[in-house]
Amino acid sequence: MTDNQIMSLDLVEVLIPIPLMEKFSYLPPKNNSKLLKQGSRVLVPFGKRTLVGVVWSFSERDKSSNRKYKYIKEILDEVPLLDSNSISLAEWSSRYYHYPLGEIISYFFPPSLRKGKEAKFRETKYLELTSKGFFLEEETLTRAPSQQKLISILKDKKEMTLKSAQAFGISNAAVNGLIEKGFVNRFSRELSPYKKLENKQLSSPKQLNPEQNKAVNAIKKAKDKNITYLLDGITGSGKTEVYLQAIQEIVNEGKQALILIPEIGLAPQAEERFREYFGDRVMSFHSAKNEREKVDAWLGASRGLVDIIIGTRSSVFLPMKNLGIIVVDEEHDLSFKQMEKFRYSARDMALYRAKLEKIPVVLASATPSLETLKNVKEEKYEVLKLNKRATGANLPTYHAVDLKGKELHEGLSKELLEATQTELDKGNQVLIFLNRRGYAPSMICKACGWISNCDRCDALMTVHKNPLKLHCHHCEAQKPYPSKCPSCGSDDFLTYGFGTERVEEFLRGHFPDTKTLRIDSDSTRKKESLNEYFDEIKKGEPIILLGTQLLAKGHHFPNVTLVGIIDADSGLFSADFRGSERVAQLMTQVAGRAGRDKKPGRVILQSYCLDHPQIEEIITGSYEKFAKKLLEERKSYKIPPFSFQAKIFAESPKSLVSRDFILKLLNQSKIEKQISSNVRIVGPLPSIMEKKSGVYRWELSIFSSSRSNLHKFLDVMQSRLYEPKLTKQVRWSIDVDPLSSI
Ligand SMILES: [Zn+2]
Ligand SMILES: [Zn+2]
Repeated sequence: MTDNQIMSLDLVEVLIPIPLMEKFSYLPPKNNSKLLKQGSRVLVPFGKRTLVGVVWSFSERDKSSNRKYKYIKEILDEVPLLDSNSISLAEWSSRYYHYPLGEIISYFFPPSLRKGKEAKFRETKYLELTSKGFFLEEETLTRAPSQQKLISILKDKKEMTLKSAQAFGISNAAVNGLIEKGFVNRFSRELSPYKKLENKQLSSPKQLNPEQNKAVNAIKKAKDKNITYLLDGITGSGKTEVYLQAIQEIVNEGKQALILIPEIGLAPQAEERFREYFGDRVMSFHSAKNEREKVDAWLGASRGLVDIIIGTRSSVFLPMKNLGIIVVDEEHDLSFKQMEKFRYSARDMALYRAKLEKIPVVLASATPSLETLKNVKEEKYEVLKLNKRATGANLPTYHAVDLKGKELHEGLSKELLEATQTELDKGNQVLIFLNRRGYAPSMICKACGWISNCDRCDALMTVHKNPLKLHCHHCEAQKPYPSKCPSCGSDDFLTYGFGTERVEEFLRGHFPDTKTLRIDSDSTRKKESLNEYFDEIKKGEPIILLGTQLLAKGHHFPNVTLVGIIDADSGLFSADFRGSERVAQLMTQVAGRAGRDKKPGRVILQSYCLDHPQIEEIITGSYEKFAKKLLEERKSYKIPPFSFQAKIFAESPKSLVSRDFILKLLNQSKIEKQISSNVRIVGPLPSIMEKKSGVYRWELSIFSSSRSNLHKFLDVMQSRLYEPKLTKQVRWSIDVDPLSSI
């Protein structure tokens, strides 16, 4: 739209961050309306408040209507902060996820910009001569040597920072004196933390095997084309090296790359790896950064000062000046999906963004999601296979331990303990996997049978020893560890089951001469602690790593030769049809940490149900075969990815209120026959954990073989959901492509 067009239109549609679906119309500000552009932030009156909104579109005023409009108060950005692709991405995701655009737009800005702060790097104060000052004879200042010095430096250097003037011993009084007399001018300038570097080659690229080479060349050829690749490589096959080298060429042409990673914990490792190739042109973006760092990263990306951005889920919204490729590493990972409020999938948004920008996407994984595999099968994605480990090592061998009738030591079998000792004796590292943190998942009173239920959830509170407390892992509620049974007063308790704290205690006692590192979200709460653990592992000394899924993701531990899976059965009997896909992915990923370098690796898998088809499949087959089977199964049941799914959740302090809310919604929604014939509705049903954080949750599942019918159905529902009458006491949400039911 040209400036002239804007002038002729007299209403401005502004997006405001409130949970309503509509945009709000304002009159252009009384002056400066020429500066109004789509994507700029503005201050607008809203009720009694003033809010920061984003200019979205322009429209003509309906002359017949008497409606009164308010004026935009102020334009905050002369240059719009969002480009047209960002705007299209926001619009698409609002339609797709049925979520208010005004709220979505706030995902595109770091908090301070959202609140209306200036989009600038940190500013520094500078001094320069005025023209009057330029012609000033220094001799006239002999009685003020400090001022004389400043004038002479400025004549020589043109400008200097206020700080360096102070360093020269020039006082503020002297500076202010010259400013008052009109000889010197003080001004502020942004100080970018980024230096644009020339294309110097840093570390030379690693030698690739033929499979890797083929993959690199394929991706390189796709630049400027919107092609989606699945980089499907077994654990340790060097997927990172492949996209690193492909990106190198794209970046050398002046474009940017966005790398999405599943976990903050992986950021330092990834950043370090990229810096070897790209030096300071790499930056990471995630929630652990402080506000200044976030704004700097945001500005660096949007002004094109940084070439490579590595970030978690929310980085998919970063505006980038010249994006050339997106990589989604570990594309199957659940963390790419936001599970609350705006329930977007960063992977799917990345795919749409790449379509808008006409650039390639690389989805990398050793255990691709079933949706992705289906798209490969239908030739929507191109697959690049890496079947060999980059180091030439073999995949680890599996050894199953049948736990039936076995005596265990805090969950560990004799076989696993002996194998651990053997590897430690050889100077190797061992990884023990248990996806359950805390000391014990429950405590029971031996006298009366009281158990540590959470008051707010249908769940037990976990016993934690360090510090001693009860902790609900679902609502985060915490209670002191009871000294007496709340029910009968006895102090004879049984802590039932085992978590990582308890296994750690045992391992330390059993292997007193070896260091045991427990790595879970409790032990890594401090910002830097995960890195400290990795440094410890990198030393290569014999060590036992005990951890949850934090250890399963993408890490390269060259000295780990044995992986012990304590409890392969957890998750086998999930009520969610996606449960088995998750278990297979997790097991394959954990197992993949073994024997990645020169020494061969081994996996010991403990289970009570070795004849379960899934356990059998993992031990004897491969993830690929397993996924193929699972796909066939899903196809025959017509469930995702062979149909499209959405859920509507209702939460309230009373169970029946949540249920009735959904029933009412269904009754009163007039759905065209044409749509409903293609839509299958399941529910309302209580969620798998009905009571959570003090509210009762019910849900409605909607399946359809037609994406557009599913959306039409949701549109009808959504319009009703916003009726204030219906929503009293109930909090609702819509989840398109739900991934988890917990
Ligand atoms: Zn009791
Ligand atoms: Zn709870």
